[in-house]
Amino acid sequence: MAHVSFENIDKIYPGGTQAIFDFNLAIADGERVALVGPSGCGKSTLLRLLAGLEVATRGVLSINGQTVNRLSPQQRNVAMVFQDYALYPHMTVRRNLEFPLKMRGLSRAEIERQVHWVTGLLSLSDLLDRLPRQLSGGQRQRVAMGRALVRQPAVFLMDEPLSNLDARLRLQIRSEISELLERTGATTLYVTHDQAEAMTLGQRVAVLDQGRLRQTAPPQELYERPANTFVAGFIGNPPMNLLPARLIVTSEDRLRLRLGEQSLPLTLSASTAALWRQWLETPLSAGIRPEHLRMATEKDEGLRAMVQDAEYLGHETLLYLRIDGLAPPAPVVIMRLPGIRIFHKGDMLRLFLSPAHLHLFDAAGLALDHGITGHDARY
Ligand code: ADP
Repeated sequence: MAHVSFENIDKIYPGGTQAIFDFNLAIADGERVALVGPSGCGKSTLLRLLAGLEVATRGVLSINGQTVNRLSPQQRNVAMVFQDYALYPHMTVRRNLEFPLKMRGLSRAEIERQVHWVTGLLSLSDLLDRLPRQLSGGQRQRVAMGRALVRQPAVFLMDEPLSNLDARLRLQIRSEISELLERTGATTLYVTHDQAEAMTLGQRVAVLDQGRLRQTAPPQELYERPANTFVAGFIGNPPMNLLPARLIVTSEDRLRLRLGEQSLPLTLSASTAALWRQWLETPLSAGIRPEHLRMATEKDEGLRAMVQDAEYLGHETLLYLRIDGLAPPAPVVIMRLPGIRIFHKGDMLRLFLSPAHLHLFDAAGLALDHGITGHDARY
């Protein structure tokens, strides 16, 4: 396998559309990176650049330290699995697996050895004599992966391989693919628009927005420490609530968070308080995840909110709330509660917002404490 690097890559298509802006990413040998972002953000373009189906306008693309910008797809030894599987319908699974090796002119013995290896790796031995139409969606996906892996590519590329499947099958195959990729140890770039898929399949996740890389981090870090409002609003389902806010100090010099006409005390570590005080009275966005909101108790200073709607999902209830005194067009705030909890439209609640789970972003959308080791407030 191999390591891959994108350095300062720009891609401008003929006609002038710039799809990629100064993209940098290094993928380690055997690493699985999921590239995620909304439709049109440039994911396929990056994959096609790496596969050799497009040429970068600027920058250096390398595989194992070798610059590959000008190499043909064949010379790069990169294998790609698309969403439509692209198996030959009239060939058995065995012949589908053999085909790419025959095309390369390998000896019969070598072909058998490679097919035997991939058959064992992906548990395909029971399927070898079947035609693609005699396979389930999941099995077909496995054979498509086998056909891509059989020639032991340096890099394995997957382009939305699950997007044609129904939701239930997608979940099942997602966990199957995750396990298979783990077993193959292949250097993989996995492209998807589905953040849950990216979070479960990538050891690291690269978030792309309008051709720009917004953050690259392991799933947990991306979730716990989004670097900007784009990532905060994209990762998580439902995503992080983002509200217009300001930091203020009381006459006793205590730091508080102001949300419209209400404000809340912030009990913070000295270092976080010192950092956040630099942003006093500046327009900010306050971010809080739906699962980090809870009902205030008697002793808490709570945030008054009104129930707009409730969704009962069985294992949890999602409450859609309006914060009292937050001027329109203030966004609806989503709160996640375990189990079924019955609420009515118009019910008034008091919310508790733990400073330990509060994220603050500046007017440009950048996290105030990005680049330092998380804010260490604990409540
Ligand atoms: P994604 O895979 O994230 O949906 P793409 O990489 O397909 O995004 O597209 C990124 C941008 O580049 C889009 O604005 C798209 O319209 C544009 N684009 C993609 N392919 C071409 C092309 N061959 N010619 C011109 N523009 C293109």
